[in-house]
Amino acid sequence: MSRLRKVHIKSFGCQMNVYDSHRMADTLAPSGYRETASLDDADLVILNTCHIREKAVEKVYSEIGRIRTAKEAAAAQGRQMMIAVAGCVAQAEGEEIVRRADSVDLVVGSQNYHRLPELIARAGNGEKVVDTEFPVEDKFAVLAAPERTAIIKRGISSFVTVQEGCDKFCTFCVVPYTRGAEVSRPVKQIVAEVERLADAGVREVTLIGQNVNAYHGEGEDGAPSTLGKLLRRLAQVPGILRLRYTTSHPRDVDEDLIAAHGDLEALMPYVHLPVQSGSDRILAAMNRKHSRADYLAVVARLRVERPDLAFSSDFIVGFPGETEQDFRDTLSLVDDVGFAGAFSFMYSPRPGTPAAEIDDQVPPEEKAERLQRLQAVITRHQRAFNAQFTGREFDVLLDKPGRRPGQLVGRSPYLQAVQVIAPRSLIGRIARVTVTEVGSNSLFGALSGEPQAPQLIAAGA
Ligand code: SAM
Ligand code: SF4
Repeated sequence: MSRLRKVHIKSFGCQMNVYDSHRMADTLAPSGYRETASLDDADLVILNTCHIREKAVEKVYSEIGRIRTAKEAAAAQGRQMMIAVAGCVAQAEGEEIVRRADSVDLVVGSQNYHRLPELIARAGNGEKVVDTEFPVEDKFAVLAAPERTAIIKRGISSFVTVQEGCDKFCTFCVVPYTRGAEVSRPVKQIVAEVERLADAGVREVTLIGQNVNAYHGEGEDGAPSTLGKLLRRLAQVPGILRLRYTTSHPRDVDEDLIAAHGDLEALMPYVHLPVQSGSDRILAAMNRKHSRADYLAVVARLRVERPDLAFSSDFIVGFPGETEQDFRDTLSLVDDVGFAGAFSFMYSPRPGTPAAEIDDQVPPEEKAERLQRLQAVITRHQRAFNAQFTGREFDVLLDKPGRRPGQLVGRSPYLQAVQVIAPRSLIGRIARVTVTEVGSNSLFGALSGEPQAPQLIAAGA
């Protein structure tokens, strides 16, 4: 029996990192590690990092500085605290991290964390360990499965990575370099994971991938699957009431996926579909492989199949060479689609990406001004989207205790947070809720009917 030890994992960036952090904890559990929310009593601290924008990297180094203080305090008490850096900064910076921050014991890339127990053992013997080579083995095939108690603790909504990496090479993006080539997990492996989650009480699964709709994993019949087919299969898993997926690329939205939106009751009517810009000139310079018209056609096609479908997106402002007219094209695209929400970023030059080499960089103050203008338009649409629900009824999957005593918080089909007065016994159930008030960050509602019985029936087509 291994000695009980504590691991504190801090995740930066996207949902894929949140998922990876859970899987790191799962993989360390058989070696006796239990997760702790507190940094100070940890035997091992893992920073699961993001490299997508400049500040993220600097944040990691300042975080390492903060942890070093805790490490020194632990050493003064005769306790060893090991520091590991994982994720995309680890992948991109590698050896540089142990050179720049000598308190770091271990650097592990995003494809290698299944080796953590062995790497920690080596670091424990005083070696500075850096493992960022892309491995030949499939980490998902060897990672330890999550323990039931860990799943229960993580709540009724879970991410499941089904696809990793990217072959698209948008000129601004580091992902193809940090996460490597596109790889999809086999359907069988995903079904087994989702069944395990459902069995421990998970009711909503979000399939994730850098390009989730490029999914092409091996099907149960041995032929390549598609995301649409995978969603149809998962809708049959008893206990799974809701399915979502993110992040999609407009070019990879196929007829199969569109049809799934019409057919599957469990597939929620909310799609995150990054467009980045509304200008064809900029889209071409970004190597997005789709035009503004292509994007609008995909949105329209999906809305034919599922008229209430809501969209969110990602935008970059101030890409090199972006003119005021290009930027206005982005603003008008927001008006054309009427997004329910969106993330927007100032372009951040990433070393090693083609766009960073372009001379015509937009001055920082212009980027900041455009970001403000874009965010104002996005906020206007988000408010209008939310406002239309006042007095209306929809299904809410009740998730966890809310902000106030007696409240639960849940998610609408359109991913809005909804605060509802309801007993805790309804966590994990879908309730019919009437929206009574629309706030800036969440909606407020009242139960308007008998909640559905705890479903263990298939929630599919
Ligand atoms: N795969 C997704 C797609 O096709 O759009 C997104 C992946 S990326 C992790 C998330 C978002 O970060 C992107 O959609 C983009 O808006 C933003 N992003 C990526 N690189 C960036 C950069 N160099 N500067 C600013 N924002 C960036
Ligand atoms: Fe990055 Fe483009 Fe790939 Fe998305 S599609 S991960 S933005 S390279």
